[in-house]
This record gives sequence, C-alpha cells and structure tokens, in this order.
Amino acid sequence: MHARSLPVMIIRMSSASLITDLAAASRILAAHGVVDSFGHVSLRHPERAGRYLMSRAVAPALVTPDDIMEYDLDSNPVNADGRSSFLERFIHGEIYKARPDIQSVVHSHSPSVIPFGLVRVPLEAMFHNAAFIAKGVPVFDIREKFGSTDMLVSSREKGAALASVLGSKDVVLMRAHGSAACGGTLQRAVFRAVYTEVNARIQHWTMALSSGEGMAVLNADEGRLADDVNQNAAMRAWELWRSQVRAQVNW
Ligand code: MN
Repeated sequence: MHARSLPVMIIRMSSASLITDLAAASRILAAHGVVDSFGHVSLRHPERAGRYLMSRAVAPALVTPDDIMEYDLDSNPVNADGRSSFLERFIHGEIYKARPDIQSVVHSHSPSVIPFGLVRVPLEAMFHNAAFIAKGVPVFDIREKFGSTDMLVSSREKGAALASVLGSKDVVLMRAHGSAACGGTLQRAVFRAVYTEVNARIQHWTMALSSGEGMAVLNADEGRLADDVNQNAAMRAWELWRSQVRAQVNW
C-alpha cells in the first residue's frame, strides 16, 4: 500500500460510511480506555480539505452518526443546528491547518501517557506497534506562551501553539492534560492513539524493571521501517474494532 493512494481511496468511499466510521472511531477509543467522558476524534472532510468532521459535545462512547458536525479550519461549526461543540475543537482545526498530510486527529487524556508530560523522561518506542513514537514525542506546555490557564486548548491561538510544538511528529503530549495523536487516515490516527496509551503502560513497566537504564527501544531507523508496515497493521486492527462496534449498533 502506497501512502499516495490513500486519499483517493477515502474520496471513493461514500461520505455516509465515513461518518459512521468516525462515530465508530469514537466508540472504539472509549472501549480501549483512550477516551472516557472526555476526548474526541475528528476527520478532515474527504472532499473539502478546508473543513473537518467531529461529533457534537457528548461522551465519546455515546456518539452516533447523527452527532457528527462539520467545521471550518477556524473551528466554527458550519451546521450546528442547535448542537453544542467541544471547547477544545481548536486542537483539530489548527493541526489540520498546519499539517496538510494529516487527515485525522485524536485528543485524549489517556492516563498512562500523562506522566510523560509531567517529567523530563521522554516517551520512547517500546515495541513495533508504537513505531511512530521513535520519531520523538514533543511536550506542549501551555504555560510557556499563555501563563496560568484552565489548561484547555480553547482558542485558535492555543491550538496553533500546540500544532507548532507537534511540528512534523505524529503525537504531541500536553503537560498536565493529555495528548493528541494524528494520522494520514482515520484508522491510523485511532491506531496511534490506542498504541500511544499501550506504549506508555509498557514504558512504565520497563522503567520499573530497569530503573530506566539501558532500555533497548526502537531507534529512528527501526521506527521508520516498522511504521511503514503498521499501515497494514492499522487496517487489521480497524477491521476487528469496527466489527465490535457493529455488533452493538445497527450502523
Ligand atoms: Mn482535553
């Protein structure tokens, strides 16, 4: 599978199936403990690159296709119709603006990841499924630009600052808050969000075992090679996870 062919595949799929897949992604992330009552996943609009799709403000495990709304990249809702929006939608809009290659973003407070935003120990790639982490995972500290805040990325300015710390990486940690994981497809962003949490858990175990010394983590070359293969791994995981949602709902 070549990365260049993926956007074409997305456009060929009907937007109805993309919307149901986005709603399913929300439930998948909840089932894996990546999101709880909070957190959200979005998808760049398949035909209008200056728009994105995301659910109304609701707990991720409850999302249905009817909850999916459309936003411009300034994160103004285009079809609100009385529905309320997530306060932190600017995370998504500003990442899409800064990174044309990104088609999907997950924001979560997944618990095993949070410690790595609080201390100077970097998150590192513990195993092949988390190969994307070998590129490096920057930490966004909202204090640096905005001083003391409520910690929420609740404006375009804060979203742009987060996107600039993300840079060319796939995941960014947010100090004392959570993280954002991105991908060139919905499936890859979901896969990365799930495996960022799993990798963090494994790193805690490994550091307890080794006192943090001599961890034989993936190097940058291994990370790049394994991440190429993970394009297919993400689809296999998606088929399983999507079928588990389908067993619970009729969409
Ligand atoms: Mn948040």
